[in-house]
Amino acid sequence: MRLSTYNFKTRRETPQDADSANAALLSRGRFIERGMTGVYNFLPMGWVVMENIMSIIRKHMNSTGAYEGRFTTLQDKQLWDRAGRWESGKDIMYQFKDHGEREVGLGFTHEEVFVDLLSRQPLSYADFPYKVYQFQTKFRFEARPKSGLLRGREFLMKDLYSAHATDEELKTYYDQVKEAYHTIFTELGIPVIETLASGGVFTDNFSHEFQTISPIGEDEVYICDQCKMGINKEVIEKVGHKCPNCGGTQFSIEKTIEVGNTFDLGTYYSEKMAVTYADSEDVQKPFWLASYGIGISRAMGTIVELHHDDKGIIWPESVAPASVHLVGLTERAEAVYQQLIEAGILVIYDDRALSAGEKFADADLLGMPVRITVGAKTPEGQVEWKNRDGERSDNMTLETAINKLKED
Ligand code: ATP
Ligand code: MG
Repeated sequence: MRLSTYNFKTRRETPQDADSANAALLSRGRFIERGMTGVYNFLPMGWVVMENIMSIIRKHMNSTGAYEGRFTTLQDKQLWDRAGRWESGKDIMYQFKDHGEREVGLGFTHEEVFVDLLSRQPLSYADFPYKVYQFQTKFRFEARPKSGLLRGREFLMKDLYSAHATDEELKTYYDQVKEAYHTIFTELGIPVIETLASGGVFTDNFSHEFQTISPIGEDEVYICDQCKMGINKEVIEKVGHKCPNCGGTQFSIEKTIEVGNTFDLGTYYSEKMAVTYADSEDVQKPFWLASYGIGISRAMGTIVELHHDDKGIIWPESVAPASVHLVGLTERAEAVYQQLIEAGILVIYDDRALSAGEKFADADLLGMPVRITVGAKTPEGQVEWKNRDGERSDNMTLETAINKLKED
């Protein structure tokens, strides 16, 4: 991609409403643009990052045997009444009357939709489990949207739902998804602490949150000194200030961002909504449900919180919009650009008529993992290589540079 044709220009100044590193750097780099409180547009370069995050998640969701689908956003009040959440969700859910005066709302989570979908065919024990996930824009009337992409009123989520004939089958799959979550967050460059948290009002079970340490986080987690398991402050009393995993009683307390979570919902929704399955003796029984979320846009904001310096973003290779930022200061850069493309490397090419200083500042702000410069001082036949997260720059042949890029 040539920056001369990508005309969303970076900003020197931090927008006044930017209350966090992710809001400041993502909007200065023109990855996102605020629409209104808690609502963001994704500009093309920002959308590439979102796509990269989604493809990592998609790969690991598929490997658990789940299928991708897409549920409705617009939903009927009657559906939400079946588990009593039209009333209890009033504060968070966008609810309104359409032109036909029907009461509708925007789904802020999709347990009801999933259970209702299952009810559209006779359910037999032999057909379980069902595992469906989606990527979808969620709307929530958050009282205090803040910290850029971390807490919005419109945000992108991956939500997976699984239904099982038995509790054992649920628990096996639940553990498999938790495993997949650890792999996903490692690939995204987000180190996570698996954390026990409240399972909600209708269960004694814990839920599991995937928390990453950050001063901007809104959660507080007790991290066991011995086994590093996390316990959300909200349940530390419930576990008697003792780690249920190893019995440890020494904790460090950290501020954290919740990037994902998993809920074992038991038979609650199946019973509430009266959707059951026929067991092997043809007796109708409630089934077991779990749901599993990851905030896609929150993950993007979190990556920036964890990976930046005072000059800009430092994207992990796995989600970066491109591997290389090519700073062209002489004609020769054109040929280098073509050769990088031919080698199958994703490149952002700064071919604009700007000063070297301006181009380097943009390369630092935009945060591709590797900067390659071709300038008047670069020896003939060579390019200048610099890692975004390093200080040194080295001259090398383009061939060597391409080989290095392919190694990663
Ligand atoms: P929180 O406690 O932060 O409000 P939650 O418990 O409401 O999160 P879920 O309803 O389980 O979260 O949503 C699944 C995931 O979606 C969360 O783990 C988080 O990553 C993301 N998420 C939740 N609310 C928001 C929001 N307002 N803006 C951006 N991402 C969000
Ligand atoms: Mg919430």
